[in-house]
Amino acid sequence: MSLLKKVQRNALWKDVNEKDWTNWKWQQRNTIRKPEQLLHFGYTKKNIKDIQEVTQIFRMRVTPYFASLVQDKKGPIGLQTFPQKEELIRTPDQYADPLSEDFFRPYKVRNKFVRPGTEEERLELELDKAMFPEEVKRVDTIIHKYDNRVLFYTTANCAMTCRHCTRKRLVNDTSTQPNIKEDNKGVALGMEYIASNPEIIDVILSGGDVLSYSNQNIDYLLGKLDEINHVQIKRLGTRNLVTLPYRVDDGLAEVISNYVGLTPEGKPKSVRINTHFNHPEEITYEAAEAVMKLKATGASIGNQAVLLKGVNDIPETMKNLYSILASLGIDPYYLYQCDKNFGNEHFRTPLEVGLNIMDALTTHTSGVATPHFIKDLEGGHGKVHLPGAIKGIRDGGDGTKIYDIQTTGAAYTLQPQIIEYKDIQ
Ligand code: SF4
Repeated sequence: MSLLKKVQRNALWKDVNEKDWTNWKWQQRNTIRKPEQLLHFGYTKKNIKDIQEVTQIFRMRVTPYFASLVQDKKGPIGLQTFPQKEELIRTPDQYADPLSEDFFRPYKVRNKFVRPGTEEERLELELDKAMFPEEVKRVDTIIHKYDNRVLFYTTANCAMTCRHCTRKRLVNDTSTQPNIKEDNKGVALGMEYIASNPEIIDVILSGGDVLSYSNQNIDYLLGKLDEINHVQIKRLGTRNLVTLPYRVDDGLAEVISNYVGLTPEGKPKSVRINTHFNHPEEITYEAAEAVMKLKATGASIGNQAVLLKGVNDIPETMKNLYSILASLGIDPYYLYQCDKNFGNEHFRTPLEVGLNIMDALTTHTSGVATPHFIKDLEGGHGKVHLPGAIKGIRDGGDGTKIYDIQTTGAAYTLQPQIIEYKDIQ
């Protein structure tokens, strides 16, 4: 295995002193946000015009650290980083909210929480909310799809806007930013919902990227969850290890270590970091240092890669990615089929590409370096494991394939059933 390399700063930042460069707040303050700044990355004035059009739909934000990893704007890191005009392609097979997450938000009706079971019920609750705003509130911070766990939408911010993001509708819109402490549409109402529902044992603090918050606020969020006795698993959803590893400072490590261990009464306490490395070139020396610092707290780390055309759709790349992750002690966890999200058409691969990668990984690597291949189905059907869930394959007639996929029924509104999945060419 070759040694991990330190990031080589782009010439734009060569004069920045080391103290600033390694300060995560400096990195956040100095993110690339304006298309004209891309003239420093091999773009022409004509390219910039296209990019301006794209950023009106999905903004751009890139840390100097991650921008410095870009060797080629059409290479595996560049494609995830800088806007491309292909993001403007629209087809009938794309959705703003491909996983129907917005459907799975509960409501508080007077003193009682309710989950809509059907679209009609949801629309009725929305109507009541509009007519009686004091009595009916939507819990905007909670996505409760599977009975025993929730995704807690804590922030609209990320260190970087990854071009393939599945939550573009939220991270693109600062009006969805929850209020951390007070405000009924904010975090407090989400905590109240979790506390009122003893079935919920697993909470994913996500967004956006929860590590966009200060250490003090992360301590507040973990502390509030710690007070809820039935919450057994706390997860932090973050791509900062990849896009801004300096975020993992000593203060953060200290906060996390306070929520890991065994209480004198015998209650296990754990924190799981869900991160998102997609390509071996993202695993720098700095990223590995951040991983080691987090692991020293006792937290566990799992990776959730997304299969992306032109980025990581080659078995050799994935073998390399997963063997480095395994050497850092990161659980390979999930490899996701790319969602049918607006602006993602050029990133999507046929299912066969992922199935071939899985064949290569299961044949040539050990279990510690082999993820589960997951399709999170459109329409809110939830996650399925591939290839196991595939029950039939048919010719779609236009060069595509149609897969019959067995759903699990784990998403609370839907029964197990076979659904059609139309692939991409
Ligand atoms: S860090 Fe995650 S939530 Fe934020 S833009 Fe990237 S993929 Fe989306």
